[in-house]
Amino acid sequence: MRILKLKKKDLKKFLESISSFGELWAPVKKGNRWAFQPTAPDNIDLDAGRTILPLKKFMVPQKFTMFKYNKEGYTPELSNIPSRIVFGAHPCDIAGLNILDKLFTENFPDPYYIERRKKTAIIGLSCLPDEFCFCNETGTDTVEEGFDLFLSETGTDFYLVWIGSSLGDDLMRMAENLFSEDIAFEDIQKFTNWKKERAKKFKVNIDLTGMPSIFELSLNSKIWDKIGERCLACGSCSMVCPTCNCYDVKDTVELRECKGERNRCWDSCTLHEYSLVAGGHNFRANRSDRLRLWYTHKLESFIGAYGKPSCVGCGRCLVTCPVDINAYTLAKTLREEEVFFK
Ligand code: SF4
Ligand code: SF4
Repeated sequence: MRILKLKKKDLKKFLESISSFGELWAPVKKGNRWAFQPTAPDNIDLDAGRTILPLKKFMVPQKFTMFKYNKEGYTPELSNIPSRIVFGAHPCDIAGLNILDKLFTENFPDPYYIERRKKTAIIGLSCLPDEFCFCNETGTDTVEEGFDLFLSETGTDFYLVWIGSSLGDDLMRMAENLFSEDIAFEDIQKFTNWKKERAKKFKVNIDLTGMPSIFELSLNSKIWDKIGERCLACGSCSMVCPTCNCYDVKDTVELRECKGERNRCWDSCTLHEYSLVAGGHNFRANRSDRLRLWYTHKLESFIGAYGKPSCVGCGRCLVTCPVDINAYTLAKTLREEEVFFK
């Protein structure tokens, strides 16, 4: 992988130089949090913490039309997907995207996801952890793939820039004169020092070792009832989680005109209706059963299939759940450690 240098003062110039690729989206302040929004390079908050919603909102929008149909057949809605530059993606969020790539492009390729992924340039940016981040524990505090360009802080006046794809190379070449290959030994030292300092800033300690076995052993534990009693079944945890990907499909039909459209929207396995089937039977009517499913996906089954959790340590469930059920409190509860809920 090629690594270059970009002076911090040239970042704005670079983002302007690549604007012909598509609309620029980046983290901007929204109240006391951040959100990816269309913005000019001047308004980007380079010190942004986690955004309210992760990168999945670009690849799988909250609601979209898959196709329209009539008596003659159907037409997939793929031609109106816009090209975008998403700047400021943090490593854990790119890791979340890599997990979605597996789910949406391998066994059952999803043309809507694939088209949006192709048309979205991902430019990552390193970040500092706050009191809820634990990507160091999930091995997602750095990423090696899934981005087109990745800019890392060095604690000096330049970024180190990783080129992660041919699109990233094309983007860099649109302003090649701003980049330099002149990386000295002391630049590498500054970068590693910055990384060491960053590592010291993590505050959440979560032990995920042996989680699959702990889940298996806890399948019928009373712990799930205790957690289920607290849960409000609001679905917020899965809405904000970068790797949650369940969706619902709904048809809108105009019978008289013999035409209609098929729409997709986000869904959550923590919601009561999620497991409701024809005939009125709900095979996960209890909140405890639904939460067990949610966390089994995050901390057990994905490890079994891919050797790592599908939790990327972004901390969103820690800041979002109104009753403090999250990857941290859950892992601690299963380990029978003392947990202080709000
Ligand atoms: S489970 Fe929580 S910390 Fe882990 S990826 Fe999802 S929202 Fe982030
Ligand atoms: S765990 Fe928390 S965020 Fe998730 S559904 Fe229950 S109350 Fe809502």
